[in-house]
Amino acid sequence: MSVPNFKGNEKKYVMEAIASEWVSTAGKQIEQFEDRVAEYVGAAGAVACQSGTAGLHLAMIALGITEGDLVLVPTLTFVAAVNPVRYVGASPVFFDCDDYLTIDPQKIRSFCEEECELVQGRLLHRKTGRQVKAMVAVHVFGNIAAMEELMKIAGKYHLAVIEDATEAMGSYYKEGRYKGKYAGTIGAVGVYSFNGNKIITTGGGGMIVSQDPLLLKRCRHLSAQAKADPLYFDHDEVGYNYRMTNLQAALGLAQMEQLEEFIEKKKTNYRVYQEAGLPLLPFREDIRANYWFYSYETKHRASLLAYLNQKGIQSRPVWKLIHTLKPYQEEIAYRVTRADGVYRRIVNLPCSSNLDEESVKYVAECVREFERSKK
Ligand SMILES: *Cc1c(COP(=O)(O)O)cnc(C)c1O
Repeated sequence: MSVPNFKGNEKKYVMEAIASEWVSTAGKQIEQFEDRVAEYVGAAGAVACQSGTAGLHLAMIALGITEGDLVLVPTLTFVAAVNPVRYVGASPVFFDCDDYLTIDPQKIRSFCEEECELVQGRLLHRKTGRQVKAMVAVHVFGNIAAMEELMKIAGKYHLAVIEDATEAMGSYYKEGRYKGKYAGTIGAVGVYSFNGNKIITTGGGGMIVSQDPLLLKRCRHLSAQAKADPLYFDHDEVGYNYRMTNLQAALGLAQMEQLEEFIEKKKTNYRVYQEAGLPLLPFREDIRANYWFYSYETKHRASLLAYLNQKGIQSRPVWKLIHTLKPYQEEIAYRVTRADGVYRRIVNLPCSSNLDEESVKYVAECVREFERSKK
């Protein structure tokens, strides 16, 4: 459905890393990969780490999110966008999605207005007395969340915005207030993932970007066991072993060289589906999307998944809503009315950047045949 594409310099760069014997959490490729990503997205800097999840965890610590705080999150996303809220002892408040499957800014606004009050610059949730400190904007499937609205609300209510851009590396605004800005570079901090199914992969890995050098410095420090003095094993706080390895960064450098090509291919395949008569959910008009995942809406989700599976075509449902998962059932879910319909109707279709036109047409034909059989 979404598999790695290694047709560039991957082997060459990994062999170079091996030859240099710098394979672990230090090395020149890590620095180069960080620089390359920061430059590509237009961030002040970047900190490579072990996964997107680790990056989100560090970002939350660096933003001072802590025990008892509330963090506004979407319920329709991958659970890794929310788990870090719990890692730092805070609690999520779950929100609905909008037309593009991203967090609904109108509901965030009404929650802040109606359920909270600003007291000396702190947004307090009336019912629990807890401070709302931040929101996580997840750029679902390569779309960008409604950042203009979200940033306005965040400014008004003094909330930090964490961009979970793990699925949206390469997406950017073509117009509007954030014209030219890449997903991940608009809020206080952004995080990418290089897991095997993402648009580029390092096997496993993540990257934190920000325009704030101090925040990045702190993330870097925490990611490397909070070493105050590397020679004398002096550690000035509780750190983490969250650094990316040089081997992974070598893969990442080769993948970065092909990112634009991958996006081009995914965009072409998206059009091939559409032209084959299969309507896919749109990406926002005002962005250049990275076309990471294709979403198809059906009334017969379970039987379509089974049908495609039997044809040897991998597809998948979207995530079960997080506020319905066992660890999160006790948390606040604010007026979630639309996300459940999305959950029940959307299927993600094959979108790998190495799919040729013929394969895409075949998948489209299978889906159409299935839908005809349901009429
Ligand atoms: C992939 C993903 C993550 C986590 O990234 P890992 O690198 O797998 O830890 C977080 N949030 C979302 C929305 C994702 O899709």
